Amino acid sequence: MARTSDLIFPQPVFVPKIWGGRRLDTEFGYDLPAGPVGECWAISAHPHGDCVIDGGAYDGRRLSELWAEEPQLFGGASGDRFPLLIKILDVDDYLSVQVHPDDAYATEHEGGSLGKSECWYVLEADDDARIMIGQHAKDRDEFKGMVEKRRWDELLNEITINAGDFFNIVPGTVHAVRGALILEVQQSSDVTYRVYDFERLQDDGTSRELHLAQALDVIDFKAETITTGAITVPEVDGVTHLMDCRYFGVDRVRATAGSSVALALDKPFACVSVCAGAGTVSVSGDAPRDLRKGNHFIAPAGCTELSFTGEMMLIVSYPA
Ligand code: ZN
Repeated sequence: MARTSDLIFPQPVFVPKIWGGRRLDTEFGYDLPAGPVGECWAISAHPHGDCVIDGGAYDGRRLSELWAEEPQLFGGASGDRFPLLIKILDVDDYLSVQVHPDDAYATEHEGGSLGKSECWYVLEADDDARIMIGQHAKDRDEFKGMVEKRRWDELLNEITINAGDFFNIVPGTVHAVRGALILEVQQSSDVTYRVYDFERLQDDGTSRELHLAQALDVIDFKAETITTGAITVPEVDGVTHLMDCRYFGVDRVRATAGSSVALALDKPFACVSVCAGAGTVSVSGDAPRDLRKGNHFIAPAGCTELSFTGEMMLIVSYPA
């Protein structure tokens, strides 16, 4: 009989992208399809990549099925679909300059999809790594004019990034990145409006579709410009609370050798990603289970506390 405190391990889904690389293999040891791979959908019930559960009482079932048929695992979480999507991005070349809609716009224009609030934790950054986040046009007309004249350098707010940076990317924020491995927590949505794709061609000689009209609809021209991703909130007993929004919260957990880190869980469930190192996790006094970089799991409703040992960095996210 499955208990609602048994951890659930989804199998990642991998997505080839023209801007991707091979670091999901070389850094994380995943068994990848050939060619550049940009995204690991580590915990997802989205129809474009619905993870199959690996082992345990729910072995072989899809996460979307668990959400629909085993609500006790997600104690009290509301909504018609699993709300979160956890990815690792390997961004070798520039991600397209893009923007995402909020719930209201996506519901109306994208067939009932959720909007896409997302956040990025930078796991590794190349020496020349850059993020574009936000833009300098004051309104729709100015933005459109600068796009037509290809004045990208003046239009886009570009800053350097370092490992350990964190960015909260709210809907309406123009963004792109290159030269980084990123852990992403987002709403379960796959709606992206591409503004610019660096004149790149795909293998078949065509370019990827742009969506300037929709982008102009959703860009927030009043947003404040972000100038750094440095984390300023303090770490308390190994836990750093990175953000809260109306959809999710995100913590970073760092375990160091010789002591354990306890993480109290008071949400319907949590998604946990091991981003570096190795160690163990135990739930409420159960036998510890080995973990290593690249493991991802869901701590279902019966987990009130997770205890970590070893040397690990984990990102923990949960519905708001
Ligand atoms: Zn995005």
